[in-house]
Amino acid sequence: MQNAGIAELGLNWRYLAFEVHPDDLRQAIAGAKAMNYIGLNLTIPHKLLAVDIVDVKDGAATTWGAVNTIRFEGENGAGEWRPMMEFTEAPRQIRAHGFNTDADAITRALREDLGVEPAGKRVLLLGAGGAGRTAALKLASDNVAELYLVNRTQNKADLLAEEIRQRYPKARVVTGYPTDKVDAVLNATSLGLQPTDSLPFDEQRFSLTRTAAVYDMIYRPAETPLLRAAKAAGCRIANGLGMLLYQGAKALEIWTGQPAPLSTMRRALEQNVYGI
Ligand code: NAP
Repeated sequence: MQNAGIAELGLNWRYLAFEVHPDDLRQAIAGAKAMNYIGLNLTIPHKLLAVDIVDVKDGAATTWGAVNTIRFEGENGAGEWRPMMEFTEAPRQIRAHGFNTDADAITRALREDLGVEPAGKRVLLLGAGGAGRTAALKLASDNVAELYLVNRTQNKADLLAEEIRQRYPKARVVTGYPTDKVDAVLNATSLGLQPTDSLPFDEQRFSLTRTAAVYDMIYRPAETPLLRAAKAAGCRIANGLGMLLYQGAKALEIWTGQPAPLSTMRRALEQNVYGI
């Protein structure tokens, strides 16, 4: 996805994957900085650890407590910090600027792929792990009308609900299933990764006939048991590919300062993930 986007923008860059032990993350970021890298993406657990390693953070990285994108910046002659791509000669001083593109990608995917604008909506969120927590906080910050939280480990849903009430006192958050209709169900559990997985909710306590739309963060398989059942129940559906695409596209925009070539990146992602 990133290399396709980079090629489309005509940049002589390469996006590579490296496996770094969490204990070595600080040295890895320092090494990338010393080698005049343009930037980095980080995934779990590195994106949580990097919060205390980067030199400066943008608002989203601070709000969501995670850095999934780093842009290296050099100091120019006027004492300004500018993206590395603007330098023809390596600057003497370089800093690591941390960003977070995950949270916006969730609501963008709901909006563009599912047709659900969270503000004023009633949403059932399944899962309170890393992705579920970010989704819950982002939905609350985007003025969702009512948020229902369900998690296998009830205590985690309770703690998350408490965190939301403290950070977004106006948000109406309930742990447990809604008793009437919702606008969307969002699956942030890992149930559905395996074809034999059960649905990620208790069928005695909730039915897909009570929602208009279902988003599954899982993108492989493309159609999870949840999405199959939701389609059969007549719901609008979307899988997590858009979420992956939008967080990556935003990272490319942060590094380049240019709009990401979204359709090229989507096509590359589909080819890599689904072989189509
Ligand atoms: P995580 O922190 O490990 O959380 C996993 C979540 O799934 C927890 O809520 C966990 O409940 C629940 N869960 C796991 N096994 C379960 C089971 N057998 N029955 C019921 N609930 C179960 O993982 P994460 O990073 O939040 O990721 C969650 C999902 O989102 C994964 O499927 C991942 O692939 C997907 N994801 C997609 C994207 C994307 O770009 N599309 C990005 C991030 C994540 P407990 O709290 O009870 O353990």
